Amino acid sequence: MSYDYDLIAIGGGSGGIALSNRAASYGARCLIIEKDVKMGGTCVNRGCVPKKAMWYAADMAHSLRDAPAYGYDIKSASFNWSEFVAKREKYISNINNFYVSSFEKNGVDTAYGLAKLVDMHTVEVNGKRYSAERIALAPGGSPTVPDIPGNELAITSDGFFELQSLPDKVLVLGAGYIAVELAGMLQALGSDVTLAVRKTGFLREFETMLAENLTTAMREDGVNLCTEFTATKIEKHNDKLSVISESGQSLEGFDEVIFAIGRTPATSELGLNEAGVEVNSRGYIPVDKFQQTNVPSVFALGDVTGQAELTPVAIAAGRRMADRIYNNQHDRHLNYENIATVIFSHPPIGTIGLTESQAREQYGDQVKTYEADFNPMYMAFTDHKVRTAMKLVVVGAEEKVVGCHMIGLAVDEMLQGFAVAINMGATKKDFDDTVAIHPTSSEELVTMR
Ligand code: FAD
Ligand code: NDP
Repeated sequence: MSYDYDLIAIGGGSGGIALSNRAASYGARCLIIEKDVKMGGTCVNRGCVPKKAMWYAADMAHSLRDAPAYGYDIKSASFNWSEFVAKREKYISNINNFYVSSFEKNGVDTAYGLAKLVDMHTVEVNGKRYSAERIALAPGGSPTVPDIPGNELAITSDGFFELQSLPDKVLVLGAGYIAVELAGMLQALGSDVTLAVRKTGFLREFETMLAENLTTAMREDGVNLCTEFTATKIEKHNDKLSVISESGQSLEGFDEVIFAIGRTPATSELGLNEAGVEVNSRGYIPVDKFQQTNVPSVFALGDVTGQAELTPVAIAAGRRMADRIYNNQHDRHLNYENIATVIFSHPPIGTIGLTESQAREQYGDQVKTYEADFNPMYMAFTDHKVRTAMKLVVVGAEEKVVGCHMIGLAVDEMLQGFAVAINMGATKKDFDDTVAIHPTSSEELVTMR
C-alpha cells in the first residue's frame, strides 16, 4: 500500500512540531497540519512563553519594590502594559517564523486548516485528502469554561494574553497552575486581585507545605483569597462584573473575571469516530507506552492524552516516538514518572516525585522526610520577607530520594539539576556527599539534617 506520507501530525504545537522535525531528520516524509494561522501551539502563542514574559515583568516589580532596601533611590516606576505586550508579541512572532523555517530546512510539509480523520490512514483539511502510514494526534486543548449564566462576560488565560491594559480589579476563579500564576502576576503588576477557589485552598494535589507557604506569601502581597466559592452566575452592572456563588455569596466590582479551572482536550472536531479511535470518560485519548491508540496506525501525544500536561512532556513523547519508529530505537518511549515541574507563582514552586502522603501510601513507615524553612539571604536586607521552604521525601534504609518539593526565591532554576540526580536514583547520602555552593539557597538541599 502506498501513502502520500509516512507520517501526518495533526496539531502544530509542542508535540506535533517535535515529532515531525525529529521524524523528518531520519528521512520520514512528514506533513504537519495546524488549524491556527501561526505554528507553535498553546505554549508559544498563549501559554508558557507569553506567561513567562509576564512573570519576568512581575518579578521586576518585586525587585523594584525591594530596590530601596539595597540602597537604590527609586523615584517612580510605572509599568507600560501595551508597550511590553507589543515586545512580547514580537518575540512570539520570531518563534512562529523560526518554526516555519525549521520545517523548510527539515523537509516537513505544512498545511493550515482544521484537520479531520476520514479513516485510520486518511486526513482531510480544507476539502483535500492526504494519506499516511501513521497519523499522530497532537491537538492539545482549550481552557474549560463552566456552563453558567453570564460565562461570556468572563475571559480565560487566552483572553488574559489579549488584554490591552492592566485591569484595575480582577477575580481569578480556579485552583491550579494557571490560577495561582495569573493571580500572582496581576497582583505584582498592580491589579487588585481576588482568587476564589471552590474548596479550602489551591494546589491541593501538590505537597501540602507548598500551598501553605504560597497562601501566606500571596496574602502578604495583597491577594484576597476566597475559599469554598463555586461560581454559579456572572452579571454586569455599570460596567463592573459580579459573581454569585452556590451559597449566595456575591463578589463584586471587577473589571475582569478569569476562569482558570482546567483545560478540555480538543477531540470533538477530530473525526475520531470515523477512524475508530477511542476516548476515555474525561474526553482524553488513551495511549500505550508507545503513544499508540486503540487503532494501530493512529498515535496521540501531548495534552490530548491527559498525562502530565506540560510542554517538555509533549516534546519528549514526540521525539521518542520518532526515535523508535524511524531510527530503530525499538523500546524508546517516555517514562511519565518523576517529571519535574515548576509553577511560576510569586514565589515560584519547584516539585518532582512523590508527595509525603503519596510516599506513605506506597511505602508506609519506610518513609522519612527532611525539611528546611528559612529566610534566604536576599531577604535579610528587604522589608518585605518571603520565606523559602524545602522538603525531601526519602524511602528505605538507603534513603532513596523519591520526592523533592520547594517554594521560594530561585527554586524554579534550582530544580532541573536535582531532577537529574533523582532520576538517577540518588540517595540522601549522595546529596550529603555533594559539597555545597555558598552562599546560595540551593545549598540547603545538600545540608539538611
Ligand atoms: P498544543 O501546544 O496545545 O498544540 C496543539 C495544536 O493543535 C494547536 O496549535 C491547535 O491549534 C492545533 N489543533 C487542534 N485541533 C486541530 C485540528 N483538528 N486540526 C489542526 N490543528 C489542530 N507547560 C510548561 O511546561 N511550562 C509552562 O510554563 C506552561 N505554562 C502554561 C501556561 C498556560 C497559560 C497554559 C494554557 C499552558 C501552559 N503550559 C505550560 C502547558 C503547555 O502549553 C502544554 O502542555 C503544551 O502546549 C501541550 O502541547 P501539545 O502539542 O499537546 O498541544
Ligand atoms: P489545573 O488542572 O492545574 O487546575 C485546575 C483546578 O481548578 C482543578 O485542580 C480544580 O481544583 C479547580 N477546578 C476544576 N473545576 C472547577 C470548577 N468548575 N470551578 C472551580 N474550580 C474548578 O488546570 P489549569 O487550567 O490551571 O492548567 C491546565 C494545565 O496546564 C495544568 O494542569 C498544567 O499541566 C499546565 N500548565 C502548566 C504550567 C507550568 O508548567 N508552569 C502553567 C500553566 C498550566 P480543586 O479541585 O481544588 O477545586
